[in-house]
Amino acid sequence: MRYRTLGKTGLQVSEIGFGAEWIGDMDAEEVRAMAKCGIEAGMNIVDCWMADPAVRSALGIAIEPERDKWIIQGHVGSTWQDGQYVRTRDMAVVPAAFEDLLERLRTDHVELGMIHFVDAVQEFKDIMAGPFYAYVQELLEQGKIEHVGLSTHNPDVAQLAAEDGRIEMIMFSINPAFDLMPATENIDDYFGDYADESLAGMDPVRAKLYATCEANNVGITVMKPFAGGRLLDAATSPFGVALTPAQCIHYCLTRPAVASVMAGVQNLAQMQEALAYVDTPAEQLDYASVLAGAQAHAYYGQCTYCGHCAPCVKGINIALVNKYADLAEMHDSVPEGVGQHYRELDVTAADCIGCGDCEARCPFGVPIAEKMARTATLFA
Ligand code: SF4
Ligand code: SF4
Repeated sequence: MRYRTLGKTGLQVSEIGFGAEWIGDMDAEEVRAMAKCGIEAGMNIVDCWMADPAVRSALGIAIEPERDKWIIQGHVGSTWQDGQYVRTRDMAVVPAAFEDLLERLRTDHVELGMIHFVDAVQEFKDIMAGPFYAYVQELLEQGKIEHVGLSTHNPDVAQLAAEDGRIEMIMFSINPAFDLMPATENIDDYFGDYADESLAGMDPVRAKLYATCEANNVGITVMKPFAGGRLLDAATSPFGVALTPAQCIHYCLTRPAVASVMAGVQNLAQMQEALAYVDTPAEQLDYASVLAGAQAHAYYGQCTYCGHCAPCVKGINIALVNKYADLAEMHDSVPEGVGQHYRELDVTAADCIGCGDCEARCPFGVPIAEKMARTATLFA
């Protein structure tokens, strides 16, 4: 397993996390077997947004033996009312639901206290200015949460959170299809029919979000890496071709600021499949050949940081340099952190001799030599 720093929380999280969304129908033994499998493979982060008391209890039993090894994302505002999940900001019920979560998880705190599922901009503003955030702060002071996070599917909300200063990390839905679609306050829009024009290219709002998270050191954990399974089947994939779980995970992990992908697994076999990412040979992680060969050349001309263009005759890590360049270009001036990372490279864009050798290998038609020249000027 490899680990990454989750933004300003400073926590070292495993690249593959346990998305426990689908464990509802399992008995405690099955959940325990999955948690054990995860821990043995080095997994150390689990997301628990589910309000169903039975699910919370099953997860609590499963992780109790090695509680100190888990970093838990516990959600504030996910409640269970009259036998149903209800997302709410009603302070008459929110604290009791969070206390219930702690009790059923058999712990007195969670590392990541997530402001649960905020998909509307006005709702975010209301939360941060009102009693809901005051309660989150209280939890922080009491040590019941160690860091403040937020979960959302809407890049406009995530952008506000990344700029706010009080949110240390974000759980955000990322996959190659969502990255091409405009922001919406309705998650169902992402699962509707994919019109060709909606896959015209990387949504600039999302690109800006990743740049802001990187610049502000706000870590990202990923949900929906497989677009609810649609990307894994050619019949439902908006690209008309299927990607593998490893390719989807790799796509997420090559986005800026992403620390961990919370694979939503429904059984032990799927847990093992997600964990197999770590030992998957590089050529099998390659999402570029699939996306570039898809019906819609949705990413044409844009760098996806796939690394296909390597090796550079001068030893430039082209994917990494392009990532820093894209991050920097999103801002009026080069953010300090990005500039520092760039300067630490042994070989930079300034070493490019414009030979074009790499361009023949780029499946997305990126004008690399031209981009290197621009990047050298940008960071000069
Ligand atoms: S064009 Fe520049 S980046 Fe590409 S192989 Fe040549 S030197 Fe390397
Ligand atoms: S320039 Fe092309 S081949 Fe190289 S990392 Fe970017 S998209 Fe991939």
